Amino acid sequence: MPQNVDLGVWDQVAPLFDRLEAEAAQCTTPKQLEGWLLNWSEGGAALDEEASKRYIAMTCHTDHPEAEKAYLHFVENIEPCLKPRQFKLAQLYVQHPARRQLPQDRYQVFDRDTQLHVELFRPENIPLETEEAKLSQQYQKLSGSLTVRFRGEEKTLVQMGRYLEEPDRPLRQESWELVANRRLQEAEEFEAIFDRLVQVRQQIARNAGFDNYRDYAFRKLGRFDYSPADCESFHQAVQEEVMPVVRELQKDRRRQLGLEKLRPWDLSVDPLNRPPLQPFERVEDMVARTQAIFARLDPELAGGFQQMRELHLLDLDNRKGKAPGGYQSSLPEARVPFIFMNAIGVQRDVETILHESGHAFHTLCTRPEDLYAYRSAPIEFCEVASMSMELLGNEFLEQFYQAPEANRARRTHLESIMTIFPWIATVDAFQHWIYTHPNHTRPEREAAWVELMARFGGEVDWQGYEPMRARLWHRQLHIFIHAFYYIEYGIAQLGALQVWANSRRDRANALQNYKNALKLGGSRPLPQLFAAAGCRFDFSRPTMAPLVRLVREELAKL
Ligand SMILES: [Zn+2]
Repeated sequence: MPQNVDLGVWDQVAPLFDRLEAEAAQCTTPKQLEGWLLNWSEGGAALDEEASKRYIAMTCHTDHPEAEKAYLHFVENIEPCLKPRQFKLAQLYVQHPARRQLPQDRYQVFDRDTQLHVELFRPENIPLETEEAKLSQQYQKLSGSLTVRFRGEEKTLVQMGRYLEEPDRPLRQESWELVANRRLQEAEEFEAIFDRLVQVRQQIARNAGFDNYRDYAFRKLGRFDYSPADCESFHQAVQEEVMPVVRELQKDRRRQLGLEKLRPWDLSVDPLNRPPLQPFERVEDMVARTQAIFARLDPELAGGFQQMRELHLLDLDNRKGKAPGGYQSSLPEARVPFIFMNAIGVQRDVETILHESGHAFHTLCTRPEDLYAYRSAPIEFCEVASMSMELLGNEFLEQFYQAPEANRARRTHLESIMTIFPWIATVDAFQHWIYTHPNHTRPEREAAWVELMARFGGEVDWQGYEPMRARLWHRQLHIFIHAFYYIEYGIAQLGALQVWANSRRDRANALQNYKNALKLGGSRPLPQLFAAAGCRFDFSRPTMAPLVRLVREELAKL
């Protein structure tokens, strides 16, 4: 990268691409092509770092209008120009005569990803993708606009969520019904948006030469290493292995709450009516105790976290003028991670810092990799890095709590892992059905969903609320906005549970494997990343059964 280029000015960025295009033609040997790939890589990293910096500045200072302006300028004026230029470079690579002579082992993953990018492109899909994006935006706008009047105040549906944790049952029911009814009022609108999305997606698939959108989506998402049949065996394994545990947990909950029947508004409250856990008061304490947890786990990881503190790569406290939520981002040119969150002193914050630190360790582990595409892994493995860290870190929760509270936090975490599996299976199986039945009617769609709710819904009694149950999928954003992207979390959780199970046998070895796998970044196919971490890349019963058994045994002890 030349010095003093303003990456926010397209006229200064475009010549970099002109130069890369010209250089591609001049490469004749595989060595030269490798050098060219590194130049392209460097440019990509610098541009992504520019976007990251602007995004971080905006979310850390929502009260600085110039930060927002700078970010939007990049999104609106630079990114749309970048896409076709990046695509052109991908094409030049795919057509390059020296490509076939590159060392296979090193470039296998990069090569197949880049070829896929080029091969799926259809100019006639551009307007359809724009329409898909607009429909997604309509869904988000509609969902985000919904409010209810509760006790004289207007509240968003997100704000209403906290009442489901209230010990007062009639209050829970009232708030749950308000939200469910509000969504139901918009059912027609949600269905209409989705009908159109299915049509558009089916057409996109057809244009790209596929007979259904499921098969297209599997290619588009780069799922080289697993098939629809593997996902179906995940659904089956969840039904057979996880559902018995979920039913047991629901039965315990019902008994602890002293209820005849568990209703939809009884699922988030603490079953023993205890006040929320309070792991820390000041954010500095959270950081110091998290540091202590990493010190117990592994000196190298602890050193990485310490370095992030020293380099001010953490913005963790909740304050006015900060965007909500939490994320890990990276500065790909400097090759360092950044963690953003809004800690307020609840157990969820402890989970978040452990999770995002797992992502940050991944970023730190890939620093020596020069090919930018290999400094990040597919999401199925990125989430192994983060979810493993939740489970491994939870072994030392006594840094935050007395023993009974630490066990309570562990219990909640393991229960949430068990209950999310059936929801992931439901959302995934529903989409498999949708896109392999592209000409379905709304009543057929409803029947398919209700059947899945019976398969994966457990013992919750929905009597009197059947219309809400039949439309529960309206609230799952991924179904509308990121078709098929969801099972990744189930796949990753299976990996994380295996890392944790390994650490129960030999912690030092499990952590060594974990770090070795993180260091591979995205340079190997998924099965090899999993294998390096000491895990099987398999979603069927034989892999799932012992993991569920371990969780069940652990829950019995807590
Ligand atoms: Zn994550």
